Amino acid sequence: MSQYKSQARGLGMTSQRARDRLIERLREAGIRDERVLLAMASVPRHLFIDEALASRAYEDTALPIGNGQTISQPWVVARMTEALLEAPPEGLPLPRRVLEVGTGSGYQAAVLAALGIEVFSIERIDELLRQARRRLRRLGFNVRTRHDDGRVGWDECAPFDGIIVTAGGALVDPQLLAQLGDGGTLVAPVGSASGQQLLRLRRQGEQMDQESLGTVVFVPLLAGVVSA
Ligand code: SAH
Repeated sequence: MSQYKSQARGLGMTSQRARDRLIERLREAGIRDERVLLAMASVPRHLFIDEALASRAYEDTALPIGNGQTISQPWVVARMTEALLEAPPEGLPLPRRVLEVGTGSGYQAAVLAALGIEVFSIERIDELLRQARRRLRRLGFNVRTRHDDGRVGWDECAPFDGIIVTAGGALVDPQLLAQLGDGGTLVAPVGSASGQQLLRLRRQGEQMDQESLGTVVFVPLLAGVVSA
């Protein structure tokens, strides 16, 4: 039996219960969008981290995924997803196409895909991306991925209804912002490592509306790519 299958089987009986408890905690912590809670109840977070940490998968905490990176805290995934869904472009119930910068484990991409969103995701560390791709494929999530520096987005596939950046930068690159379609929403942590604000930007024609959704802590958004 593959490591993957034994891992899935070993936790299979308990993981849905553990996930349901996590969903209750997220609800208590202010997450209101039932679509987001339902999607997170369906994605097996323990399969996005190393087996040695799987027993902690349903704690509301960030966990290491190797290469000095982390899988984001579930509350942060929920809040960012909710922030993206709150204001879809006019006439759409959900953003149709979303770009993620920072695939990491692939968990956030899976949550978006579970909502029925077409997901494009960019990761700069080749090794993480290969693992994420394998997981997403095995679990049946259809996510288009790319190994690149995501700060400048994915021009060939633009415009996007939503853009989600899961690493903290000093600013949102204008090239990335240009790939947001009319009525689209971008959610990104912006600031220094010591203090980041989760910003939500909305494009209304030529105008960009900006609001802060509070303080967050993310790994840094870095330049260039890392190849194996
Ligand atoms: N969304 C991920 C969070 C991973 S942490 C998850 O659900 O697991 C953030 C990720 O962003 C890391 O994997 C890091 O390598 C990646 N990253 C940082 N700067 C980047 C850049 N410029 N382009 C693409 N990915 C980047």
